[in-house]
Amino acid sequence: MSTLEIKDLHVSVETKEGRKQILKGATLTVNSGETHAIMGPNGSGKSTLAYTLAGHPKYEVDSGQALLDGQDLLKMTPDERAKAGLFLAMQYPVEVPGVSMTNFLRTAKTEVDGKAPAIRQWTKDLNDAMKRLRMDPKFARRSVNEGFSGGEKKRAEVLQLELLKPKFAVLDETDSGLDVDALRIVSEGVNRAKENTGMGVLMVTHYTRILKYIKPDIVHVFADGRFVKTGGPELADTLEETGYDQYLPEGADSE
Ligand code: ADP
Ligand code: MG
Ligand code: MG
Repeated sequence: MSTLEIKDLHVSVETKEGRKQILKGATLTVNSGETHAIMGPNGSGKSTLAYTLAGHPKYEVDSGQALLDGQDLLKMTPDERAKAGLFLAMQYPVEVPGVSMTNFLRTAKTEVDGKAPAIRQWTKDLNDAMKRLRMDPKFARRSVNEGFSGGEKKRAEVLQLELLKPKFAVLDETDSGLDVDALRIVSEGVNRAKENTGMGVLMVTHYTRILKYIKPDIVHVFADGRFVKTGGPELADTLEETGYDQYLPEGADSE
């Protein structure tokens, strides 16, 4: 059993208007096998939390901790974090021209495992995973995310997830911009990874529709840089009706 602990995390970024505090004391514990949904208004800092965990250099940690099985993630480089078992599916996956999907995935797998995967097994695993995600085999030879549609990028993120087998996956709006069929296919991929590895999942989403496919154990409301309410799956339904206004500070407006 593994544990991801986020403790009183305060994070800021340098903007043109000066330093801006975004995370204001985020605290959360996720265990293996658990799925946590994080819901909250635009601009509340959900992606900042995801990027901070993954080690994006733009986000400066002012105080607080992030621990994976007691190891200090915040002291690690992004690739050390991946090696420790953390995976981030980005809200806006980046294009990497000139690097093929197949090379990228094999390099990532080699990095994370500390050794190159046996070629025959790897080729089979890659082809099988792509088939299950209904990805055209041609995608393996294309540059990472270059010219991919929104839905294809999200599938490529889940393909990485299935192959890299992390201990914890942070999914940042992996459901956004997907049609019903793609949503189902992507969700099935996440559920397979959960079943096969027992990973813990932190799923940032705006919509309850994905929660019908990927069942959360716990639902959190995230507003103004911190977790402000925690409940069971029923909390997501309540949010759909009431919105986030009650959780925002005086005078703030949810976008
Ligand atoms: P969410 O994912 O909840 O919509 P974000 O974490 O993307 O929120 O953004 C939170 C706030 O921080 C927003 O006001 C956003 O404009 C600001 N922000 C995030 N990243 C940066 C950055 N790299 N530079 C400047 N401002 C940023
Ligand atoms: Mg957003
Ligand atoms: Mg975001």
